[in-house]
Amino acid sequence: MATEKTIFKRIIDKEIPADVVYEDDLCMAFRDVSPQAPVHVLVIPKTTELRSLNDVNENNVELIGHVFCVIRKLAKELGVAEDGYRVVSNCGANACQTVPHLHFHLIGGRGFAWPPG
Ligand code: AMP
Repeated sequence: MATEKTIFKRIIDKEIPADVVYEDDLCMAFRDVSPQAPVHVLVIPKTTELRSLNDVNENNVELIGHVFCVIRKLAKELGVAEDGYRVVSNCGANACQTVPHLHFHLIGGRGFAWPPG
């Protein structure tokens, strides 16, 4: 039985609109629909094989490295690199992951507290 597409796969396939700020063959970045800061972008690999950080391993280090290079470039382009920003990947229920497609929140444009809630 085919598994249902996640909302992110539907964005990748252009079935639903998103405010896309970056795209290449391997990954995509778009603004979060419920932003938690002035800058809140989700950066995702396009593959559906990585559902969370639990699926990251030696076979996909190049892809994940690429995703982080994109995050670094976007932080600069979106104007948060200098003052600082946060990159978050919620993994699993305790971390409040809601979409089972690996994604990194790039959040900036305001100060953050530590520890997180
Ligand atoms: P997480 O809770 O870490 O799994 O993050 C999922 C994120 O996806 C949340 O911050 C949502 O606001 C965001 N989100 C859900 N649907 C969409 C959408 N259609 N476009 C952009 N962001 C979305």
